[in-house]
Amino acid sequence: MTIVETPTPACSARPAGAKITTLVMHYTAIESRADVVEGFMHPANEKSAHYVVDLDGTVIRMVPEAKKAWHAGVSTWNGADDVNRVSVGIEVVNFGWADRTGPNGELQRRDRVGNGFVTRTASAPAAAVVDRRSAWANYRWAAYPEVQTVAVLALVRDIVRRNGIDPTFVVGHEHIAPGRKADPGPGFPWARVATTLADLPAAEAWVARAVQSHAVRLGYGDSLGAAGVDGDWGKGTDKAVARIVKQHGKAYALPAATDRRAFAEALRRIPG
Ligand SMILES: [Zn+2]
Repeated sequence: MTIVETPTPACSARPAGAKITTLVMHYTAIESRADVVEGFMHPANEKSAHYVVDLDGTVIRMVPEAKKAWHAGVSTWNGADDVNRVSVGIEVVNFGWADRTGPNGELQRRDRVGNGFVTRTASAPAAAVVDRRSAWANYRWAAYPEVQTVAVLALVRDIVRRNGIDPTFVVGHEHIAPGRKADPGPGFPWARVATTLADLPAAEAWVARAVQSHAVRLGYGDSLGAAGVDGDWGKGTDKAVARIVKQHGKAYALPAATDRRAFAEALRRIPG
């Protein structure tokens, strides 16, 4: 893997003793790599990531993993907030969501600043992922090009292995900031992430923590009771799982919860 080094001062020290436990995936919603990198160069913007992966698969390292990058903002995972403290963040260049298509089928969304529309410029592939949620019926999500996906998977595997991250703790921004963030969205290849990490071990307690954290995110935290996200798969976790399966099992083709790891990994496909 070739990595382009573009260090930024927009980062800080991790708190003493903070261990990297989590890998957070993002999309940029901006298709220009130059604009993304430029935006991460200024501490005043309070925005950065450890890595940026361009549409052509180029990997840019902006913050060393030993330092804290500023990608997650207000966030909760594994029963704790400020996920930046304990995570590595990857920003994948991608247009993101679209709420209409142009005359030639191109993805567009309303410009938040001006009155016009932003149009997706990346042409390969033109594929878009349709949203399955009823509230998002007209939304499309820009697909991730294959050459970029291959680079993302290699980078994810490398980071997870080197840091000893539990494979079930590779999550999206949408999972740690539900309701506020939608990236990397329904177009992100979560099933392929699970496949590429399949031979790496997952600790039982971490799998339980992942399922419990997703249960909280999806609004079933009350089923966990006072124990909350404790890494202990008890009756409360069974109860939360039953509710998740009832609500989302069919739509998201969730595997049987008897395979706890596969179940935890599949929960990443359910948007918040
Ligand atoms: Zn994000």
